[in-house]
Amino acid sequence: MVQGVGFRPHVWRLARRHGVTGFVRNTSAGVVVEIEGPAHAVAAFRHALRLDLPPLARVTRVDSRAVPALGEASFRIERSVPSPGEYQPISPDAATCADCLRELFDPDDRRFRYPFLNCTNCGPRYTIIEDLPYDRARTTMRDFVMCGACAAEFDDPADRRFHAQPTACARCGPRLWLTDRTGQERDGDPIQLAAACLGAGEIVAVKSLGGFQLACDATNPEAVARLRRRKLRPAKPFAVMVRDLGVASMLCRLSAAEAAVLGGTARPIVVLGQRAEVPSPLAPEVAPNLRRLGVMLPYTPLHHLLLAAFDRPLVMTSGNVNDEPIAKDNVEALARLAPLADSFLLHDRPIRARYDDTVVQVIDAADRVVRGARGYSPTSIPVDGITGDGLALGAHLKNTFAVAKPGYVLVGPHIGDLSDPLSIAHQQEALATYLRLFRADPVEVACDLHPDYASTRLAEEWLDGTAPGREPVRVQHHHAHVASVMAEHGLRGPLIGVAFDGAGYGTDGTVWGGEFLICDEVDFRRAGHLAPVGLPGGDLCAREGWRMAAAYLTAAGLPTDPPPGLVGAGEGGEDARRWRLVCRLCSSALVPRTTSAGRLFDAVASLLGICHHSTFEGEAALRLEALATPADVAAVTPLRFELVEIGDTTVLEGPSLIRRLVAERSAGRSAVELAAAFHAGLADAVVDTCVRLRGASRFERVALSGGVFQNAVLLTRTSELLRDRGFEVYANRLVPANDGGISLGQALVAASRRAGGHRSTMEMSR
Ligand code: ZN
Ligand code: ZN
Ligand code: FE
Repeated sequence: MVQGVGFRPHVWRLARRHGVTGFVRNTSAGVVVEIEGPAHAVAAFRHALRLDLPPLARVTRVDSRAVPALGEASFRIERSVPSPGEYQPISPDAATCADCLRELFDPDDRRFRYPFLNCTNCGPRYTIIEDLPYDRARTTMRDFVMCGACAAEFDDPADRRFHAQPTACARCGPRLWLTDRTGQERDGDPIQLAAACLGAGEIVAVKSLGGFQLACDATNPEAVARLRRRKLRPAKPFAVMVRDLGVASMLCRLSAAEAAVLGGTARPIVVLGQRAEVPSPLAPEVAPNLRRLGVMLPYTPLHHLLLAAFDRPLVMTSGNVNDEPIAKDNVEALARLAPLADSFLLHDRPIRARYDDTVVQVIDAADRVVRGARGYSPTSIPVDGITGDGLALGAHLKNTFAVAKPGYVLVGPHIGDLSDPLSIAHQQEALATYLRLFRADPVEVACDLHPDYASTRLAEEWLDGTAPGREPVRVQHHHAHVASVMAEHGLRGPLIGVAFDGAGYGTDGTVWGGEFLICDEVDFRRAGHLAPVGLPGGDLCAREGWRMAAAYLTAAGLPTDPPPGLVGAGEGGEDARRWRLVCRLCSSALVPRTTSAGRLFDAVASLLGICHHSTFEGEAALRLEALATPADVAAVTPLRFELVEIGDTTVLEGPSLIRRLVAERSAGRSAVELAAAFHAGLADAVVDTCVRLRGASRFERVALSGGVFQNAVLLTRTSELLRDRGFEVYANRLVPANDGGISLGQALVAASRRAGGHRSTMEMSR
């Protein structure tokens, strides 16, 4: 990654320091440096080049060879020459650097309090780029003509702003202003006005880097509650933005790894454990019933100014209703967000591409993406074996797409739920941009096996338009989850994949989600799974977890007494009637069946009286996780699963665990204890199953994926136990374990099938 990161001036400075001459030039494949000079100077230059890089540059390989000396007198920077059909990775958007931050708050600097300052080491990139190669004329900064002072810096190789394409100052650059919800501009300093609005409990829509955010005072319960009502979001946790690492560590316990991600150049939202020992200044409405909190630091000068003027934590959430795409243009925001926000902090630098805030959590000593977008995507992942351009259209919920190029997969930003036409429009817009920027001409298209996913239909339509008669490569959902781990870690050949999630279409047409696969990058065998139970109400069960309680009680052959707290108004009430109806449905032969691990969490949360209804995806599982600490899980007596062999498949008998859970609850064990015992039992069952599958074979590698493995307690415990038993354990880091990672897995499987002519190493291993 050597474009747009100040790489060439950096090389220029190194060459001057070491007294060598020659040139530096961008090429389609990277950067070429030609130098000549005394042998010791050449050696020192080469050493320094590998050691010392600009902050945003990434170098994966350095090749060198000797060429005849030309007697060059100086070192020069040559102009970039675009070559058709080629692309170069450039840095994603980066948070304001320390140098720019110093200028921002320095009254003597000419950019004092200028909300759009940036330099080669920081600032907007993909959010403003219209085309490559990356220069100002092909960004949304095109219409801002640099003043003399900015132009002089831009042209000076010794300056930090040499070729900083989006550079600007108050004289020549974008402008900030504050309006009411009708778009009427208000007089005064927009930052001070915004801070006053926030102080008065208002909700302010802030035009940020990749779209709008909604901000309010995170310590004001009424303000947060109002934002929840307006956003139609009763309980899903909000992220907060705090001024600096010091404030973050007052609210949350911070490991060194977490502090590094929080303060890094990508500046994602980091999910942290809240301090329990001190009362939190935050309103309880910010993250109800959860121990963990999403925190981010300011990442633009605008955020820094706002947090300096309003020195309290701010709720910072995407500028949208529910899961719609975030608003990005001023007119669009005033229309879509007027019912949500009281005032608008606007500017006139257009946002070219929508990028939500990225969400990351640190589990098992590694930072792992939960939602990838600003600062992360395009996530460029080196993948061996990809020889042509390809496209993978991902899953239905938490959709992402992936563009394959020889040697790489580029995973696009979080798109969201494709049931929403606005999300489909967002996907089409983002996909078109990626295909153009990366000069991709896909020869094959991959999608999920599910016939009704919108992404599957889009894949079919794509091929109808480009290669009529051709079929997309259909990849089973859980195979794609496991393949996403294989792609990230460069794993090939057969291994054990464990994919636990809410739902994915199985090869038998039923709903899978608690799967053990013996698989490689081409094919898989379903080697184990949770025992199927009823799914009374289909997709409705993900929101109404109490339905799964009925399904598991029925499957366990237990009396179908309603879980604690579910039936309010006595035996004759509506709740009781619905409960009895669903219980009857569970014993019917017509009810669909599922092996979903996510639905097992829903059942357990309901049976323990923790959560019967999820107002957002995974709420029941998150609240169950919040009750169990890793220490408790290690100490508790686990709730055991029975493992049953059926043919060459291992079945984890969920109902056997439910029988124990119900018995122990009746014996008086607390919900907190049982939540820990459930996590411990599930981790044990995963490990025991892997040990059986290993058998006499040589499958020492286990890949864990699927949204359920975003559960920090479960992933930590399972990984530890697997390592104790001699396994190598791999899990997602760069792409989400949830369905956001599916497109990467699809891209790998599609490319491998083409390369291997559908032959799998699995054939040999059977
Ligand atoms: Zn900077
Ligand atoms: Zn200027
Ligand atoms: Fe999934």
